Parts: sequence; structure tokens; C-alpha cells
Amino acid sequence: MKIRCILSIILIGGISSSFAQVINKQTISSDNQTPLVGCASHELLLRLDDLNPGTLKKSNDYLKEVNADFQLAHSRATNEVYRIPVVFHVLYNNATENIPDSVFIQQMEILNNAYRRQNTDTVNMRPDFIDVVGDSKIEFYLATTDPNGGVTNGIIHKQTQVTNFGGVLPYGASQQAQIQQWVNDSLFYNYFSLTKDSLGGDDAWDTARYLNVWVGDLTILEPQFNNVEELVFFGLSTPPIAHANWPAATMQQFAGLGDGTLMHYKAIGPNNPAPFVGTYSGYNGIANTGKMLVHEVGHYLGLRHIWGDGACAEDDYVSDTPRANAASQYNCIKSTNSCVDTINGVDLPNMVENYMDYSAGNCQNSFTNGQAAVMRATIENFRDSVIVNSVQDTDFANEDMKLFPNPTSDNVRLEFREVLDKCTIQVLGLTGVVMNEIHLTHVKSTQVILPAVSGVYFIRVSSHSKMMTFKVVKR
Ligand SMILES: [Zn+2]
Repeated sequence: MKIRCILSIILIGGISSSFAQVINKQTISSDNQTPLVGCASHELLLRLDDLNPGTLKKSNDYLKEVNADFQLAHSRATNEVYRIPVVFHVLYNNATENIPDSVFIQQMEILNNAYRRQNTDTVNMRPDFIDVVGDSKIEFYLATTDPNGGVTNGIIHKQTQVTNFGGVLPYGASQQAQIQQWVNDSLFYNYFSLTKDSLGGDDAWDTARYLNVWVGDLTILEPQFNNVEELVFFGLSTPPIAHANWPAATMQQFAGLGDGTLMHYKAIGPNNPAPFVGTYSGYNGIANTGKMLVHEVGHYLGLRHIWGDGACAEDDYVSDTPRANAASQYNCIKSTNSCVDTINGVDLPNMVENYMDYSAGNCQNSFTNGQAAVMRATIENFRDSVIVNSVQDTDFANEDMKLFPNPTSDNVRLEFREVLDKCTIQVLGLTGVVMNEIHLTHVKSTQVILPAVSGVYFIRVSSHSKMMTFKVVKR
């Protein structure tokens, strides 16, 4: 057990520059029966920074800028609810790993309640934090249309020959340097194999249109320790920063790095038929109640861990989250105030109720307004296309645009009442297949080219959260 904990610490903290320091602290948790696992999103960000220096600074600078806007009440946040379509790719090697649709449907409820702060356990929030928590006004729904325009329920089940996507750690005790090298070179590549057909995973659906969540066995096997205990990350997400500009070598390093979230199949929930048991029950619900995906989507939308992945001096760059000197160890201790900070004039205690901590799942119930501002800014700055393409049920008014002539013998023209700063125009066939798609900015009018063949077509105009669909007859 002692060796197991050492290894766990190495894998969680060892990728960062404090690797040697972590080794020196290896005895700290030797008697702790709770394995030190968590999510690997921050480790991925650090590794990306190794490969593409400047990534972390760019990410930090972006968060500082958003936070400054938020503090000055110049946040771009509006009352508009952003709706993000989700597709789950379930990669299973055996029947146990093939988590049923019902679990994902319940997971979506947890996700939506969390991001709208409509979960019933918000009543447990301490009064200290009532002024800083809020509704992120972000919602998620299972995709109803696949990239080809076909009907889908947003959940793909696919069998794989890969038994565990964490791979095999071929090193043991006193081989720390090799272990770190293996993590750097192999672990993330192994994990992102989930995102590639050719590597036993499933190719992403257009990451500019969907939040892709891959679900599979993230276990890392350790034959050097007789696989004494599963070593696993619950999940990880790609950061929104600079993704499109990562050099090809970086992309290759991570099997193409499908943008989105990777989840261990046991951490999807609630009511997962194959939940964490035994030692992992020490996680007090974070991995069994659907809150791990809430946490991971927070990373996908730009959030850092609330303790800033370091001591008190390290920040998550969100002004209304109190600082902490470490992650909560899957507990719900409300008396801890590990760092001095001043939020609204108060030195708030550690916020174990926050989804971006590693506190007990049954303790987590909120995001802060500052975190909501980061996530909304991330959508607006980096993931806007997901929203533009996701609109479903909010329509333009009839007077907002007109299309003519209809019927037509050639093409048609669209005129808008006001200039649209950005919009997407799709031409769809009768079956819903997208036949043509154009993206325009600052548009007041435009020609829409129809297929040469006569027939009935649909033209779908979407801009931010609004949509209008026309039925056009071409003779
Ligand atoms: Zn995390």
C-alpha cells in the first residue's frame, strides 16, 4: 500500500516541475487508505505547455483578463442561456463497461442542474458563500442530429479491443524518472486513443459543433506491483486555450487530441451499474453521483481547480473563489481556512462546496459567479461555434429576416432586418442532411446557393442562440 501511494502521488503531481519535491514527500500519505487519484486536466495543461511553451502563460493571461472584466463588472455575461449539444462515445471492451443510456440521461440532469444551480442540495451552502455563488446559465442536451444530419440520441456505444486505455506502466519502485517519462510520452497518448477510430476509440464528432465526451476504461495496469490496486484518473478535459494552433507534432503526440472530455466509465453517473467500490468509496460520492463530469466540463469551459494546483500563492484566477493550499481530500471539512484572502471584505474559508475542488461529492453544490463568468467567456471566445450550431428552440421573429424569391428557379436571397455579427446558413435536404453550410460575419444580406436539382430544401439560419428555418421550393 505504501508503494501504491507513492506511485499515485507521482502520477498526480509528478508531471509538474515540483516532481523532485513530490518524491521527497512520498511518505506523507503512506498510511492514507484513500488512493490519491483525481482528474488529469491540469497535468495535461502542464504537459501541453512543455510541448508548446507559452500555452500555460497564454491560459493564465486569458483568465486574468476575464477576471479583471468580471471584477470591473464589464463581464460579457448576459442573461442569454447557452445550450451545448453533447455526444457520448462509449467505448467498451466487455459488457460491464457498456454503461446503459439511462445512466447518461440521468448524468445530463445532474449536469444541467449544476450549471443552472437548480440542484436541491444548494440548500447546504454555507451563508458565507451565498453572495458569490450563482447560475452559470449554461445548459447541455444530448445531440439530436449527428454530423451528417441523421437522427441520434447522442449516445454512441462501440466495442473496442482495447482492454484499458491507461495502458501498462512498465516501471516500479525507485524508477521515478522512468515513470515520469512514461507519463509524459505514453499516458496521454494512451488516453487520447479513445478519440481515434484507428486506435480503438471513436472519432470525434465535429468538435466545433459538439461537446464530445468519451467514456472508457482509463485504468493503468501496473505489473511491477502485481496490479495491486487500480490506478486511474477519473477524467480529463482539453483546455480551451490555443487548441487550434497547437503544432502538428503536439497533436500527433496525443493521437490527434480529440477536443473534449475523457471519462472513466465508473465515474459516469449517478446509478452507474459498475460504480467505484472498496477503497474508492472514500471519495464520498464525487465519482458516483455524476459530479465528476460537472467538474470536467468546468475544465473544458476554462476553469482551473479552486486551489490553483499549488500552495496559497497559486491562484485559479477567479476573484470570488477563496484560495486553498491544497485540494480537499474527498472530505467535507468546513472548518478549514488554509489561506488568507479577502472576498467582499471577508477571509472566506476553503470552499468545499465548489465543483472545482476534490471535496466530497455530497458536499459539492455550486460554481461561483466568477467561475460562471470564465465559462461564459470561454464559450464566447473559444467555443462559440458550439453554441451557434446548437440552437434548437429559440427562433427569430418573422420580421427579423426575409427570403425571396420562393418558389425559385435559381438561388434565393436572404435579407436581415439588422446586421448579424455572425451567422451560419445551412441548406438541408428533405431528410435533414446538410448539403451546404456557410459561416458569415457582419452580414445584412446574402445570396444562398441552392443545389442544381429541383426539389424542396430547407434553409436554416442560426446566429448565437436564435434560429429560423425556411422551406424553399426550387422548380
Ligand atoms: Zn480537475
